[in-house]
Amino acid sequence: MSGTNTVTLSTSVAHLAQAANLLTAGECIAFPTETVYGLGADARSGTAVAKVFAAKGRPAFNPLIVHVPDATIAQRHVIWSDTADRLASAFWPGPLTLVLPLRAEHGIAPLVTAGLDSLAVRVPAQSIAQRLMHMFGGPLAAPSANLSGQISATQARHVLAGLQGKIAAVVDDGPCPVGLESTIVGLTGDRPVLLRPGGLPVEVIETALGHTLARAGDKEGVTAPGQLQSHYAPAAALRLQARFPRAGELLLGFGPMDCDLNLSQTGDLTEAAANLFGHLHKLDRMSAMIAVAPVPDHGLGLAINDRLRRAAAPRDT
Ligand code: AMP
Ligand code: MG
Repeated sequence: MSGTNTVTLSTSVAHLAQAANLLTAGECIAFPTETVYGLGADARSGTAVAKVFAAKGRPAFNPLIVHVPDATIAQRHVIWSDTADRLASAFWPGPLTLVLPLRAEHGIAPLVTAGLDSLAVRVPAQSIAQRLMHMFGGPLAAPSANLSGQISATQARHVLAGLQGKIAAVVDDGPCPVGLESTIVGLTGDRPVLLRPGGLPVEVIETALGHTLARAGDKEGVTAPGQLQSHYAPAAALRLQARFPRAGELLLGFGPMDCDLNLSQTGDLTEAAANLFGHLHKLDRMSAMIAVAPVPDHGLGLAINDRLRRAAAPRDT
């Protein structure tokens, strides 16, 4: 949403209500957490989440962390486990993100997980983040509120330096106390894996668990298929830049055309981004061969094409 006037909101009740209303309207807004400022959008809306990627100018879709007010609400979206319970009891709310398997009827837009079947969730401790989540009443997908490739924003003015005119609002609550991203622990395999070091020291987590964490990249860490899967790959073969389907193929279209599913009939890249992973999953269930129409290589089209190329690439395993 370039050309938008980005409003700076205070932490007053009226301003937080305005921020919550913008989220409900499908806009993305920057908000403070104890780690860094997040660029939040309704995690149930693919179109809202697509605006986050557009504002950040990310040339690729990577999965986002979903912020929820407490562990009970987290369990609406993910399959819970004893280890999750132990870590959540010890460190939530706080700078720890857990990656857990998505549950059926999770309600999260596929763009949030970039098509993966796991979800990164966190319960922020920051009181304004908590109040905003309660007022909004839904899960918030939020990466750091900075332009792609730039350092994370720990103050509202850092947010504005990169995103002024690209997002609806920023809620200013001064500097973030931790100032580092959350520590991410993967809980989708046999053993907990450190996926990203961050604001909660690894040693503290290991003490709570009574054992060391496997490290991403360790042989030991790769104990379950998909555990370190960094991007979604359909089982079907993908043929890109297709104008017409060949025998046996289903066609994923873009723009006005005859096809089996269309990323966006009107050629709208935000709508296409919102539909990308959901449509791929659907076609993957229906056919072993998917042809994909050309998608323009600008704006969100860059990230869409990046994911399509990865999905079409020969499998490394
Ligand atoms: P950021 O968007 O900067 O907050 O970074 C989010 C981090 O969480 C990235 O390093 C992602 O790769 C990681 N992440 C989010 N969801 C998942 C997931 N389902 N599986 C593995 N890593 C994830
Ligand atoms: Mg970041």
